Amino acid sequence: MIVIKEFDDDEPDVGFSQDKDLKPTKKAYEVDFKVFSPTDIQAHQDKQINEVSAILGQPSEATAILLRHLRWNKERLIELYMEKPDMVLEKAGLGPASAQAVTTKVIKGFMCDICVEDTPGLETYALKCGHRYCVDCYRQYLAQKIKDEGEAARIQCPTSGCSRIVDSKSLDMLVAAELKARYEGPTEDEDLGLIYT
Ligand SMILES: [Zn+2]
Ligand SMILES: [Zn+2]
Repeated sequence: MIVIKEFDDDEPDVGFSQDKDLKPTKKAYEVDFKVFSPTDIQAHQDKQINEVSAILGQPSEATAILLRHLRWNKERLIELYMEKPDMVLEKAGLGPASAQAVTTKVIKGFMCDICVEDTPGLETYALKCGHRYCVDCYRQYLAQKIKDEGEAARIQCPTSGCSRIVDSKSLDMLVAAELKARYEGPTEDEDLGLIYT
């Protein structure tokens, strides 16, 4: 069992920012926190994803990314999406370009900025932001991220300052199966961070 802050759909946004000012007295703890099992959390997430997916007309995979992007604030997501769907998708790393096919490329005269490798015939890959590195560097980067953080849906481009999210097609191509399985079954700790941070 783990303890996480209870999510209240009816509470206005301001409630969140005030939380950190609360003294962690026993009383506040009892009032503001509730115990969920990991199964409850998963069920809660799935329910939210299904609901929002139906409203937005987006596949559940994309909806999950959008929800995480907006920290599981369902109302805010729906509101923003109804106003500016393209902007929301782009910011979450799901812009129209993300739907294109993913392939590695050999580029003449390419040098990888991460490992400084420039062997002819080096396989390279770029996310839709255009940041291109050798495939080995992408693989290592993603493997490390998944091991450290566990949440592949939010892995950003290796270029610092670039907020492009590594899309699922790129992950499918670059990440080994055993790591992918790990991403698809988040641990309790990862769940904790996912929903309520
Ligand atoms: Zn490299
Ligand atoms: Zn980038």
